[in-house]
Amino acid sequence: MSEAIAAELCAAIGAAHVTAGAQVAERYRRDIMGKYEAAPAFLVQPVSTGEVSAIVRIAARHGLPITVIGGQTGTVGGAVPADGGIALSLERMNRIEEIDTVSMAMTLEAGCILQLAQEAAEAQGAFLPLDLGSRGSATIGGTIGANAGGNRVLRWGMMREMVTGLEVVLADGTVVSSLTKAIKDNAGYNWKQLLIGSEGTLGIVTRAVLRLRPNPLTNQTALVAVSSFDKVIRLLRDLEVRLGGQLSSFELMWGDFYEAMTAAQLPARPRPMPTGHPFYVLVERLGGDPEGDFSQFERLLAAALEDGAIDDAVIAQSERERQALWAVREDMVRGIAAFRPFTVYDVSMALANMPRFVADARARVEGGFPGARMIFYGHAGDGNLHIIIHVGPDGQRHEQAVERLIYEAVRAVGGSIAAEHGIGQSRRQFIGMTRSDEELELMRRLKAALDPQSILNPGKVLPPA
Ligand SMILES: Cc1cc2nc3c(=O)[nH]c(=O)nc-3n(C[C@H](O)[C@H](O)[C@H](O)COP(=O)(O)OP(=O)(O)OC[C@H]3O[C@@H](n4cnc5c(N)ncnc54)[C@H](O)[C@@H]3O)c2cc1C
Repeated sequence: MSEAIAAELCAAIGAAHVTAGAQVAERYRRDIMGKYEAAPAFLVQPVSTGEVSAIVRIAARHGLPITVIGGQTGTVGGAVPADGGIALSLERMNRIEEIDTVSMAMTLEAGCILQLAQEAAEAQGAFLPLDLGSRGSATIGGTIGANAGGNRVLRWGMMREMVTGLEVVLADGTVVSSLTKAIKDNAGYNWKQLLIGSEGTLGIVTRAVLRLRPNPLTNQTALVAVSSFDKVIRLLRDLEVRLGGQLSSFELMWGDFYEAMTAAQLPARPRPMPTGHPFYVLVERLGGDPEGDFSQFERLLAAALEDGAIDDAVIAQSERERQALWAVREDMVRGIAAFRPFTVYDVSMALANMPRFVADARARVEGGFPGARMIFYGHAGDGNLHIIIHVGPDGQRHEQAVERLIYEAVRAVGGSIAAEHGIGQSRRQFIGMTRSDEELELMRRLKAALDPQSILNPGKVLPPA
């Protein structure tokens, strides 16, 4: 049977692009967290939408699971293929087809790496605002599949706000293509928005049109120390107004996160400011006035220091210093090594509820696991918190118990267990903690309508029956 399927796949896309079973490299079988591993029957690497459609038709005919893999940087095991299924990589579909600086739109294939898309836009004087720590490996298809957020959501929104056109292959191999550059399109149901963030379970994105913006002319980045959460919120609102809508990033770090990250980066990278403050915020403004922006930014922070709104501030004076400030937040591999084994959370809530959530989550975890270490940080401007938790050397054994404690605290403030990283497989048994039965039933109906055989990325998103 599997030889017959292999022959069909080879006939559809060429034998050079079909890899069988044991030959499939680890990066296509494992997730970045090292938590899930699978044994797919085939890895296929098509070069066109037509080839993707042919592969899906073969999978549908044989009832074979098919999982599309992007950069495999998702943290929830969403792109790990099914045992015995097809792993589909779009890495050969990585072309940037057009950058239209009149309509401010970029048409590209789903396998393109995010950073390459950003750089290509910049080379044409345009700007693709989506930005994540994983930019060097995450793909356009993966960021659409996951509806990625990142560092600039505050100003430009998540991936769903940047997609105007989409081409997808449905579960029966049908190609639906609407590569429009128009921002407005209220002609009927917005099926694109349904596909965005569906984690490869409703369709496979093959091409997209992304909205671009004019390239900012200036950037100012600062690390700011703040003494209370109330002051953090006041600073956020103040900067939103006073920077005329140009505040682009507002990354909040609790004092213990800052301490852990900067300690791990020593001595290679000296601390930009001392430890001991309750909160640190990485603030970035992308502006348009080379003559006035920097001095206005400096004046605003000086005034905030003067009237006690903030306790300290370091403003980057060069691109090198800017990168060093961002590294405090983004150099995670080094920063959290001391927390291994750890679990990572990505939750959201109304900003006003964040302090209550943090206190409650700490109390629940420390109550259940005395000596646990937890650090909090996140895209606070969007109500998005990340948490890293170490409960001991045998932490992996307690993972589900810790998850439940955190998600109970999220439920208590009416938040979501998945702000931007999705559900994948690691969170699917918890999705009902912040989604109602009716919502889950609606999701099941949508899935059944679009993928009646459940061949697209099975075992992800929806809870086990
Ligand atoms: C250091 C680090 C920092 C991160 N920072 C952020 C952040 O700030 N914000 C954020 O949102 N995420 C962040 N992430 C998570 C991750 O990078 C994003 O979810 C990203 O969108 C995944 O892209 P990918 O190409 O790696 O997709 P994968 O991990 O390969 O896939 C993710 C999901 O999308 C599906 N998928 C992949 N390609 C397609 C396609 N063509 N069509 C349909 N579905 C598809 C997969 O099946 C899977 O379910 C971070 C991860 C790391 C490791």
